[in-house]
Amino acid sequence: MVDTARYRDVLEKRLSELQDRLQEIDEALDSHQSKDWEELATEREGDEVLERMGSSGQVEITRIKAALDRMAEGEFGYCVSCGEEIPPERLDLVPHTPFCRSCADKRK
Ligand SMILES: [Zn+2]
Repeated sequence: MVDTARYRDVLEKRLSELQDRLQEIDEALDSHQSKDWEELATEREGDEVLERMGSSGQVEITRIKAALDRMAEGEFGYCVSCGEEIPPERLDLVPHTPFCRSCADKRK
């Protein structure tokens, strides 16, 4: 039996951290709109880094939300590919994973 309550806490905490971080990134990017030309050149590079961080955060948010949906359906902790229970050691590392280790390896 999968301890969903425990992972729900972990996932929800992680989700709100990511959302806060994305919010900060958005604000940082917005604050760069009206700057002098020279400053802009250096800030542009920083903006690209911020945007990359933002998009990887976005991907993780999508995965976490999908995991919370599976939790609501009572399917959390089971591999969406083969239906096997995902071992807790794996869920501890990647709580939002939809795959057991062998299916994840096959998809690489
Ligand atoms: Zn599997």
